[in-house]
Amino acid sequence: MQRKAKLIGSLAYKNLRYTKSHPLRIPRVSLLMELLKAMGLIEDEEIVESLPAHVDKLLLFHQEDYIRALQECDACQCVKRGYMERFNIGTYENPVSPAMWKGSLLATGSSLQGVDLFLKGHIPFNPAGGMHHAYPDRANGFCFLNDPGVILQYLLEKGFKRILYIDLDAHHCDGVQDFFYQEDRVFVLSIHQSPTYAFPFKRGFFEERGEGRGKGYNLNVPLPKGVGDREYLFVVEGLIPLVAKAYKPEVYVLQLGTDILEEDYLSKFNLSNFGFLKAFDLIRDVLGEGIYLGGGGYHPIALARAWALIWCRISNRDIPKDITPLAKKILSSVEFEELEEVDRSYMWESLLDKPRYGELRREIKDLVEKVRSEFV
Ligand SMILES: [Zn+2]
Repeated sequence: MQRKAKLIGSLAYKNLRYTKSHPLRIPRVSLLMELLKAMGLIEDEEIVESLPAHVDKLLLFHQEDYIRALQECDACQCVKRGYMERFNIGTYENPVSPAMWKGSLLATGSSLQGVDLFLKGHIPFNPAGGMHHAYPDRANGFCFLNDPGVILQYLLEKGFKRILYIDLDAHHCDGVQDFFYQEDRVFVLSIHQSPTYAFPFKRGFFEERGEGRGKGYNLNVPLPKGVGDREYLFVVEGLIPLVAKAYKPEVYVLQLGTDILEEDYLSKFNLSNFGFLKAFDLIRDVLGEGIYLGGGGYHPIALARAWALIWCRISNRDIPKDITPLAKKILSSVEFEELEEVDRSYMWESLLDKPRYGELRREIKDLVEKVRSEFV
């Protein structure tokens, strides 16, 4: 059977934005959709309109009082008394806005649609998904509803017994890891900036390998600052086949945060989207098609270009050499200011970056070797 790619998205996200000055205020899903259309890289029938999740599905992961709190804060667009302390709602990180409840509900519903589409034989990509920091009872790290957690539970409910979750975001997936820490039916693999210098600081260390029957089913690969394509691909190439062989997953969910790209001002990695795409290719070569989610990513143009590449791959399209004038116009109309003066003109010229290979440091080789020695 020839699987067909589906982009689960909606232009409704345009009106479901975070508060002003929040890093997630930027256009993301709508920009990707507009870019793909302007480049002639997507047909209408390849787009599946996002549907909000049913509350009963949220309860697969989240606690009821927290869901109620989100609904109450959404209704008044305010922080109810005591909710900041109790649920971490209304902080600078996790502000009340239309994105908080309605946006998150749509993103989570889309990830659930992704599972259903996958099981029907499609290749789903939900760029709004991958909100991996949220906890069952509180908001965390810009995330309110943990859609990966919800769909991993949904897959368990469907009877899957060996589900692999791979998280490429620059930040460790603390909300997902903690929930499945004692679970052997979900293997959580995260490659990220070391928590010694990056959010979430308290989770994401190599030593966190799971507990109880989940022991050995959690693998963290914390990396130093300055990782480029060469080091990142060395890690992916070294570890994905190993985990795949040992765990033999029946299905996998892949979180594709674009904050590993060099342009992203909230992280310290230096990847090009060439490296990002290559990492995706390596994973796909080993594991076949999976359920693809977005993730972090705070540079709207870098993000839209990188996810457009993912879309080209799964929809079996060649990557175009140039960016069309219409697409250039769309990208250049995005309101976004770089933190510092840098020449990013290459972003308007083509979708695919030149590689940013960088070095291959001893500590990265040692880390991969350390993991390998535990598996062999
Ligand atoms: Zn991130």
